[in-house]
Amino acid sequence: MTLESHRPFIEDLYRELHAHPELSHREHRTAGRMAELLREAGFEVHEHVGGTGVVGVLRRGTGPTVLVRADMDGLPVVEAEQVPYRSTQTDEWEGQTVGVMHACGHDTHMATLQGALRILVEQDDWSGTLVAVLQPAEETIDGAKGMQDDLRRILPDGIDVALGQHVMPGAAGTVSLAAGPVMAASDHLIVTVHGRGGHGSQPEATVDPIVLAASIVVRLQTVVSRTVAPFEQAVVTVGTFHAGTKQNIIPESARFEINIRTFDEGVRARVIAAIERIVQGECEASGAPRPATIERGSTAPLTDNDPQATALVAAAFDEAFGAQHLELRPLLGSEDFSDLPATWGAPYVYWMYGGFDPQLVAEATERGTLAASVPSNHSPTFIPVMQPTLDTATTAMVAAARAFLAR
Ligand SMILES: [Zn+2]
Ligand SMILES: [Zn+2]
Repeated sequence: MTLESHRPFIEDLYRELHAHPELSHREHRTAGRMAELLREAGFEVHEHVGGTGVVGVLRRGTGPTVLVRADMDGLPVVEAEQVPYRSTQTDEWEGQTVGVMHACGHDTHMATLQGALRILVEQDDWSGTLVAVLQPAEETIDGAKGMQDDLRRILPDGIDVALGQHVMPGAAGTVSLAAGPVMAASDHLIVTVHGRGGHGSQPEATVDPIVLAASIVVRLQTVVSRTVAPFEQAVVTVGTFHAGTKQNIIPESARFEINIRTFDEGVRARVIAAIERIVQGECEASGAPRPATIERGSTAPLTDNDPQATALVAAAFDEAFGAQHLELRPLLGSEDFSDLPATWGAPYVYWMYGGFDPQLVAEATERGTLAASVPSNHSPTFIPVMQPTLDTATTAMVAAARAFLAR
C-alpha cells in the first residue's frame, strides 16, 4: 500500500517542521522546504506568492483543477516539554522575544499534504490539474487574501474546487465534515467613546467616559440574547478595555475592542448594526460631546462548505474511514482558507481531523470534560499524537482530491 511506503517521509517531515516553526509572514525556511519538496515531486513551483506563499502546479491531461491547501505559520507560544522534537525557536514579536511553536498543528497540515501529493503523483489512474497551495499567515487571517492577485495570474482559468483540512482536539483516526457553514465569520470593532475629562472630585463638570463605556459593555451582553434568535448563533466579546491614567482624573476618552463571531451574513449584519446602535445610543444618553468613533479591525470570512462538493468528499470519506467519518459540529473559530477559492468564486470543502489519543478523548467525552482534558489549539501542549493522526490526514486529502480528479 502506498501510504506505508511514504509514512517515514511524512513522519520525518512532521518532526522537522515541528522543531522549526516560524511566525506569520516570516515562513522563509518553511516555504523554502515546501518549494524544494514540490520540485522533487515534479510540480511546477511558484515562490514568493503573496509574500512567503508557495504554489505548485502539476498538469496531467484534461480534467478538473483541484486546489489542495496547507497553512505554514506557527504561533508566539513557548512549547511545553513533552516531545523530543519540541521547538526551542524564538523570535521577536511586538518588541518582545517570544518562543515560537506550531501550536495550531499547521506542521501536520504541511507534512500530510506533501505526503498526499507524493501518493497522488504515484497513482496513474487520474487526470486533471493538481494545485498545491502552501499558504502563509493563517493565524493573522491575511495570508490567503494576500495570495489572491498572484493566484489569479498563475491560474487565469480558475479552479474547480479547493480542499483544506485542520487538526482539532478530537480522536486521532477520525475525520469530521459537514455541508454549509463550519467555521464562523469574525469581525473586530475598535470603539473609542469621547467624554469630557476633569477632576475626579468634580464629576458634575465632566462626562465620564469610563462609566459610559462600562454601560456599553454591559448592554452589549444583550445583543446575542435579545437580537439573535435561539436557533441562530453569534458571539460578542469585549476583549480589551482601556481608559485613564490616574485615580483622581476623569479621562477624556475610553477605548475598547469587540470580537464578533457569526455563521450567517444576515445575523452578522444585524449584530453589527445592534452594536453600533447601542454604542451611539449610550453616548447620547451620557451627553457625550460627540459620537463614538468605531473603526473596523481585521475580519475573517465565513467558512461555508459547498453542499455538492461536500457530498462527493463525504462519500469518499465513508469509503476510506467508515464509522470514523463523523459529522462536524460548526466551530466558532475562524479561518481564512475560503479566501483562496474566493479568488475565482470557486466551491470548497474544509474538514477537521482529530489529533489526540482516542481513549483519552472517549473518556473525557463520557465525563463531559473534553475541553479540560484535551489541549485546545494554540495551547503550549497542543502536540497531536503522530499516529494515526498523520495517516488519517494524508488518507483524507488523497481521498478528497480523487473524488474530483477525472478517472
Ligand atoms: Zn490557529
Ligand atoms: Zn490553525
